[in-house]
Amino acid sequence: MIHIGVLGGGQLGRMLALAGYPLGLQFIFFEPAEEAPAEHLADRIVGDFDDHQKLQELTDQVDVVTYEFENVPVSAARFVAERRPVYPPAAALEVSQDRLIEKTFFERLEIPTPPFVAVDSLDHLKRAVQQIGLPAVLKTRRMGYDGKGQEILRSAADVDAAWQRLTGTPLLLEGFVAFQRELSILAVRSRNGEKAFYCLVENEHRQGILRLSRAPAADVPAALQAQAQRYATAILEQLDYVGVLAIELFEVGGRLLANEMAPRVHNSGHWSIEGAETSQFENHLRAILDLPLGPTATIGHSTMFNLIGTLPDAAAVLAVPGAHLHLYGKTTRPARKLGHVTVRADDIETLNRRVAEMRRVLGAGNE
Ligand code: AMP
Repeated sequence: MIHIGVLGGGQLGRMLALAGYPLGLQFIFFEPAEEAPAEHLADRIVGDFDDHQKLQELTDQVDVVTYEFENVPVSAARFVAERRPVYPPAAALEVSQDRLIEKTFFERLEIPTPPFVAVDSLDHLKRAVQQIGLPAVLKTRRMGYDGKGQEILRSAADVDAAWQRLTGTPLLLEGFVAFQRELSILAVRSRNGEKAFYCLVENEHRQGILRLSRAPAADVPAALQAQAQRYATAILEQLDYVGVLAIELFEVGGRLLANEMAPRVHNSGHWSIEGAETSQFENHLRAILDLPLGPTATIGHSTMFNLIGTLPDAAAVLAVPGAHLHLYGKTTRPARKLGHVTVRADDIETLNRRVAEMRRVLGAGNE
């Protein structure tokens, strides 16, 4: 029996376990927070990521370690990597945890990204605004997620207030991109170097939180898909990456700018559970276990809705044809991802009808 240790115990971990049980895998989660959606499915060790004794307890019981949370301290990943194989490599965590390192890394690989400047004083910010122009986005370099730690600067009058709100931690000023749409690509690379790519997905965010994903994204020319795959290939190879990688992209004038990468399974890939021949979760596990990757082809068309802050009536959701409900077993809290719904259909017209019906069921907030 193969035992997989997972750093983090959130819904991504839970869905990894759900994909792993048919393959006969066992899981142990390592999660400091009180509530861990994954613990309903498997054992967990409660410990802080700097608690070496607890991390040792994990490595003693597992064959391979992965993570489902990109803010796992790099030092914890390295400690674990001295004892058991850890995939994706700790270097991928290091890149994705700091927006400055990440964007510099993209540039080095010739992956286009919005213009950016590191900022560490108000004077510096004012100079950066001159350089980049307005509108621009001021972001914390570390620990930002779901739109937290971001301020949009629309005019010079916004600069001081944004600085006051975010100062105290290293920052980055980024050009505001008037994108046509947001897309993401999920790629996977196995231990023996085999690679596979999912179709480009279209994502809608509100208040920085992903609300909806459409897979495949509509009207994607082959050249755009190829461009996204080239970016992903460059990252996978540069980092000797193993597992699923997500890259969030802005589409502007027919080209793709990389916004950020996530070295893990990703919310914009949840549709793949029902909408692809092999889900992102199963392919992540296959990759880290050096098993052949599964086909990534889509099965018809899918739209995924995140359930944020409130839960809909389950019976009403499931009465919509082609609907699949995933609840994470979390306590309700505003702005919290509590679950998702994927609606699938064989053709786009049927999907559009089902999606309109689902919007009515989900009502305000989750529509
Ligand atoms: P992030 O945390 O960087 O993924 O940002 C969250 C969301 O904010 C993105 O998905 C975009 O919708 C928006 N956003 C972030 N950066 C920019 C930018 N440079 N230009 C325009 N919108 C942005």
